[in-house]
Amino acid sequence: MKIFVAKENTKFESRVAVTPDIAQKFVESGHEIFIETNAGQKAQFDDSDYVSAFATICKRDFLSQADVVLSVNSLESEDIKTLKPKTFVISIQEPHQNEAKIHALKNAGVTSFGLDLVPRTTKAQYMDVLSSQSNLAGYKAVIEAAHLFNRGFPLMMTTAGTIKAARVLVVGAGVAGLSAIATAKRLGAIVSAFDVRKAAKEQIESLGGKFIEIEQIDDSGDFGNQTYATQMTKEYQNAQENQLRAILPNQNIVITTAQIPFQKAPIIIKTDMLDSMNRGSIVIDLASKTGGNCEQTKHGQTIDRNGVQIVAFENILNLISHDASKLFAKNVFAFFELLCLKIQNQTSMLDIDDDIIQNMLITCENKISKEVVKKCMNLC
Ligand code: NAD
Repeated sequence: MKIFVAKENTKFESRVAVTPDIAQKFVESGHEIFIETNAGQKAQFDDSDYVSAFATICKRDFLSQADVVLSVNSLESEDIKTLKPKTFVISIQEPHQNEAKIHALKNAGVTSFGLDLVPRTTKAQYMDVLSSQSNLAGYKAVIEAAHLFNRGFPLMMTTAGTIKAARVLVVGAGVAGLSAIATAKRLGAIVSAFDVRKAAKEQIESLGGKFIEIEQIDDSGDFGNQTYATQMTKEYQNAQENQLRAILPNQNIVITTAQIPFQKAPIIIKTDMLDSMNRGSIVIDLASKTGGNCEQTKHGQTIDRNGVQIVAFENILNLISHDASKLFAKNVFAFFELLCLKIQNQTSMLDIDDDIIQNMLITCENKISKEVVKKCMNLC
């Protein structure tokens, strides 16, 4: 197959969907790989690196000849119109936010997959871009906070006096949150964290963090075996707020990561809570793209509020785009291998009996998949 790797809109994205080592793997598995000029430049992969890996460098108009198009973010509707019917289009698609593009994919008759729709199962973890990228985001959030923080992280006892360890609070202990906890601990901070999922307690504690129990949490906060959080009850939100109000004045750094799939992120840190924090404190809001966990968050901006900085990166992965691209590319290749295996002897993608593929399928044969319609009710 002819596989095309599109260059991202570099204003917002520094990653590339395929790195040279993975380009070579595509070639070794019998495909031809075409990379858009300078696609990897911002992640420090030069066109010459791809050529050494047996890829061909070409212009964007190759889209119309490709059998498979790979990118980090979804293609623009204008690009989608140029694709051949039945082209495989694989990228993060965010269907709940990209209704027009999903309709463009449907109308173009292409077979599209959302890497962000990967099921969170053991079998799918090799292709899970949500996990690989969140892991790096959590790590980088702490490193950036340490950089902005005008004090040290570890307890330091010197002849000139003692420097106290920084106190870090992590809100939401999913993949990014746990990575942030581990990083802050390694830097010597005193770390506490909470999550609505009770299963997070053991994970937080195993990394050396203190789990903050939200008092009065009853069955509303216990999701049992459910993987994802849902919107919390008013009662729970009040209890959470009271607890946070008590501990926030003592925190130096807050990393917020709380998200609810396909919904706006919950507001957890209200303005008056922020105002109780000491000057010099840092809040890094990793949930800013979906609205943020902090009332004052502005996506893509750093706000200074009475000496407390509220930081919401446009895309924190741009600050670690080399490694983020490497992991992303491995995930993409794993998904593509599965796809190749399953499409053998199948006439229609809709007949493929595989939960990973059916979960990630967005459009096929001029239809939007039932799974996607179920998750994003605004699409039909
Ligand atoms: P996410 O990015 O959707 O959300 C981050 C965290 O915020 C979650 O842990 C969530 O419970 C928490 N949260 C939501 N609302 C909150 C609130 N009001 N207050 C506090 N915390 C709140 O989560 P994620 O990183 O994608 O992980 C979600 C789940 O999926 C976790 O249970 C994780 O262990 C699991 N997971 C499983 C696999 C696998 O099995 N292969 C892979 C990745 C993640």
